[in-house]
Amino acid sequence: MLKNRIVNIVFLLIVISLMITDNFAEVPAWAYIIVLLAYTAIQAYGSIVLSAEFFVDVLSSGKHNSKDVALTFDDGPVPGKTESILDILERYEVRASFFCIGNRVKAHPQIVRRIHEQGHLVANHSYFHGKLFDLQTPGAIASELEDTNAVIFETLGLKPQFFRPPYGVTNPMVAAAIRDGGFKTIGWSLRSFDTVAKDAEKLLTKVKSRVKGGDIVLFHDFSDATISILPDFIEHIQKSGLRIVRVDELLNEKAYA
Ligand SMILES: [Zn+2]
Repeated sequence: MLKNRIVNIVFLLIVISLMITDNFAEVPAWAYIIVLLAYTAIQAYGSIVLSAEFFVDVLSSGKHNSKDVALTFDDGPVPGKTESILDILERYEVRASFFCIGNRVKAHPQIVRRIHEQGHLVANHSYFHGKLFDLQTPGAIASELEDTNAVIFETLGLKPQFFRPPYGVTNPMVAAAIRDGGFKTIGWSLRSFDTVAKDAEKLLTKVKSRVKGGDIVLFHDFSDATISILPDFIEHIQKSGLRIVRVDELLNEKAYA
């Protein structure tokens, strides 16, 4: 059972017990307030921590004893940046996974075709990637997922089944759209935080020290820091006896319908 349902049941039972107790001895208002605050805090945690699998089942890593690592790149295609990443991946003959934003696929289909032709995976990362993506109605969220799949289908003739929520935020509305669209939610086990990295060397040291077999590593196409450390990072992974694979290979899941 999803954690959200368990939490709802537990809190419902707590509130019912307080109300029953209230018939015998007066329950102070602060008791209800504390329960409400605790509930809100747990919901907020569940919304922002994707790996908590609070509202949806999430695939965040491969098996613990795996020798494979999946590199994933979000928010592309970004002209001038995605191609640099593709050049590096081509040079090292490794395959990766790209979680693309629908309106960028529409604007730069040739980059998405190159991603696919090089053997990389293309997946769904919403159509607009707006800051308020998760606060839309379930219908609007579902449309973003459908529109992204439609433009990827137009470009590649493929229908992605993998979805990664923008900012990793989920809630009941996002969960409903994922369920209705038949998507599998893909998270990560190693978040590089490359979008806020000021020092590429520090970023490299961090990801090198943390990466292990079974990891799904989260990068972004537009990060200059990522582009500059990628060759060294790939070499480090390969020297560690690990193999770089696409996320569908790591998870042994079908990526396209
Ligand atoms: Zn994103």
